Amino acid sequence: MSKVLFIRQENYNQSEIDSAVLRAFDHFGGVSHFISKGDKVLLKVNLVSGHDIERRVTTDPSIVRAVARLVIDAGGTPLIADSPGIDSFKSAAEKAGFMAVARELGIECHELTDPVELPSHDGADFHRIQVSKYVIEADKIISLAKLKTHGQMYLTMGVKNLFGCVPGRLKAGWHYNVGLNREKFASLLLDIYMGVKPDLTILDGVIGMDGDGPTSGEPYNFGIIGAAVDALAMDMHLCGMLGGKLEDYPLYMAAKKRNMPQCNIDPSNVEGDIDSSHVFSGVKLPKTRSMRLLPHIPFLDRLMTSKPVHIPELCIGCGRCAAVCAAGALKHKDRHLYFDYGKCIRCYCCHEMCPVKAIKFRESRLVKIVNMIR
Ligand code: SF4
Ligand code: SF4
Repeated sequence: MSKVLFIRQENYNQSEIDSAVLRAFDHFGGVSHFISKGDKVLLKVNLVSGHDIERRVTTDPSIVRAVARLVIDAGGTPLIADSPGIDSFKSAAEKAGFMAVARELGIECHELTDPVELPSHDGADFHRIQVSKYVIEADKIISLAKLKTHGQMYLTMGVKNLFGCVPGRLKAGWHYNVGLNREKFASLLLDIYMGVKPDLTILDGVIGMDGDGPTSGEPYNFGIIGAAVDALAMDMHLCGMLGGKLEDYPLYMAAKKRNMPQCNIDPSNVEGDIDSSHVFSGVKLPKTRSMRLLPHIPFLDRLMTSKPVHIPELCIGCGRCAAVCAAGALKHKDRHLYFDYGKCIRCYCCHEMCPVKAIKFRESRLVKIVNMIR
């Protein structure tokens, strides 16, 4: 199984970040091993939607800057890109600090648009997945992921970052098509990951997020930068290091079903400043669904999964939650939300897109009981 590197990095001081990022490249053979003169290099950041840097939702611009500079020095042409769930790309990328990096270095920063079919691979569960043409046209892809918890998928790290290669509203369509089955959604993520095949993944875990991630949790100072050629291997190691149970992690369950070697976690593959026995203390992980004690049982799905609820006193009435709901399960009028829980597929996109944390999760009775006995 391929190697995973963790570098201790406690802050976003640019010169320290530059050294850490260079060390990550050097560990896997050096920048020239990845980038050749004339390469178009896609830097797939984690943008999600428009959030200020301090919320720690998005990849920190210092890491984007460090990688972009190395690509330029190696003779490549970097493109900073992602596809936000709902916001205009420009304003979201401005808030996240990516536009400033692009202006400073004279490089492009734009949205992943123009869907084209991703070539499928042997053993794929999903075919005819459409990703942006910029993903297909890139000579190299460097994924700049963020370390966060995720209400629907438990954790979002290297593999999940690539879901943003699917342009705009097509993402919501996949949520709707897959429905409540998280393992199936994880299988889709695996197919996207294996089709996109990033050349290197660098994970921003300097300050990530725990709790109600990926947008409404709290910043957590993990103090690490991760790097791997195989992002799935890195994600598998990190689950335990965050105090999580692999059986609760849909990505692990989906990969295990496919007998993927990354599921045989070997601590000797972790190199760098911390080893895989390290457990970050007190990380709050989502309890929106028990994968471990309650596997996927279609007719019990809604009972086993927390539902989104509105916190009216925090609501600013923007309507983004209803606009993003692919299931048509949410209506918004005058700062009131009307959920149709019979239609709701528990994708939590409404929660993810709310700018003011006005949508929370309410555990179902069954989930509460399961979480009590875990
Ligand atoms: S109401 Fe929220 S969680 Fe339910 S389907 Fe719509 S966006 Fe997803
Ligand atoms: S719940 Fe959030 S996203 Fe929905 S209308 Fe209120 S503030 Fe906007």
